[in-house]
Amino acid sequence: MSDTQTQQWQAMSRDHHLPPFSDYKALNARGARIITKASGVYLWDSEGNKILDAMAGLWCVNVGYGREELVEAASRQMRELPYYNLFFQTAHPPALALAKAIADIAPAGMNHVFFTGSGSEANDTVLRMVRHYWAIKGQPEKKVVIGRWNGYHGSTVAGASLGGMKAMHGQGDFPIPGIEHIDQPYWFGEGGDLDPDAFGVQVAEQLERKILEVGEDKVAAFIAEPIQGAGGVIIPPDSYWPKVREILDRYDILLVADEVICGFGRTGEWFGSDYFGNAPDLMPIAKGLTSGYVPMGGVVVRDEVVHTLNEGGEFYHGFTYSGHPVAAAVALENIRVLRDERIVERVKAHTAPYLQKRWAELAEHPLVGEARGVGMLGALELVKDKKTRERFTNQGVGLRCRDHCFDNGLVMRAVGDTMIISPPLVIGTDEIDELLDKVRRCLDLTARDMRA
Ligand SMILES: *Cc1c(COP(=O)(O)O)cnc(C)c1O
Repeated sequence: MSDTQTQQWQAMSRDHHLPPFSDYKALNARGARIITKASGVYLWDSEGNKILDAMAGLWCVNVGYGREELVEAASRQMRELPYYNLFFQTAHPPALALAKAIADIAPAGMNHVFFTGSGSEANDTVLRMVRHYWAIKGQPEKKVVIGRWNGYHGSTVAGASLGGMKAMHGQGDFPIPGIEHIDQPYWFGEGGDLDPDAFGVQVAEQLERKILEVGEDKVAAFIAEPIQGAGGVIIPPDSYWPKVREILDRYDILLVADEVICGFGRTGEWFGSDYFGNAPDLMPIAKGLTSGYVPMGGVVVRDEVVHTLNEGGEFYHGFTYSGHPVAAAVALENIRVLRDERIVERVKAHTAPYLQKRWAELAEHPLVGEARGVGMLGALELVKDKKTRERFTNQGVGLRCRDHCFDNGLVMRAVGDTMIISPPLVIGTDEIDELLDKVRRCLDLTARDMRA
């Protein structure tokens, strides 16, 4: 019997491909699921299964799949000027128009963009830029960046170091020197007996202790996601961000808000910083910038920082694909679609409140210890005991649930025993109902497994 097409692809994967963030032995034993096409909020695999993509790819397909306008923008730009660089005093219209379009939607006082090819490269740029900034200001010793345990800032050397994923740090001696971490504002997992706001203040105060420990004249910046994504959709208590802002102001330390997930409408505002009322100095962006149609990232920079950089001579940093014209043309069209179709406004006024109302109903499920969310983000904490928040021990309940989801036509991701969603921003209320029906069915199947 000859192999099916799917088996042939799986063999190619095993024989030739090293995929990201994968356990190769486990993957090869099972065979990758091959995704062949997509439209709106749905994917199709090579076996013909239709799957509701409640993760928008990897948190990025904000305008949904199959948007012809983006395809047209790319092909137009490829014909006109497929590539040119921005080094050595040249520029091209798409990168310039995109920089202006981003400045128009960014928080007040953030009017410049440094382009990169990804979110990780954006965070490498952050590390270089904040150190360069303080050196220009005559404080070169101010170079330590403080991040958070379980934060995610990408997978390059700087990204993995700024992030607080201990498993990543373990493979290759990270973080690099000059990067420190404090605890995350994860009340459900780490808040113990404190109420959420007391816990929020307590973890924010760790920032001040860390600053004093390192030396206030040695700390360049604090980097944090407004809401942690990869860490498990961790939404800080209301008390957290105001306390952090107060501490950063007191010690004259830059705030880097990693907007790679929260940016471009995910919270119902253009940026997560708008949602929390923060005024960051630098904002790494990627993912929703192009809705994932082509790779692109960048760092949005506050005017005061730009004024300093202007006095610093050449900034010895950049990428061949910084501001790539095709990526820029797609990003520009993506922002136009988000704006002209009022997608962010619709999320805020209509679909996010509906999703959050339905999502909160899941808290009644026997497996669910907490159902939380903001905008088009949601998380469920799977627990053994709802009252005490006690977890299952090493039973892989999250992965079981994720597998049930895939088998039932739904992509919902597991971070340990936390189930998370981040659907395309264009998801409609009927599709939200379908999403919730599927989640409930998969929770029931998972609960049945756990009883067995
Ligand atoms: C995905 C992500 C990154 C890394 O982006 P890549 O494009 O994968 O390099 C950085 N920060 C956050 C918050 C992310 O979610």
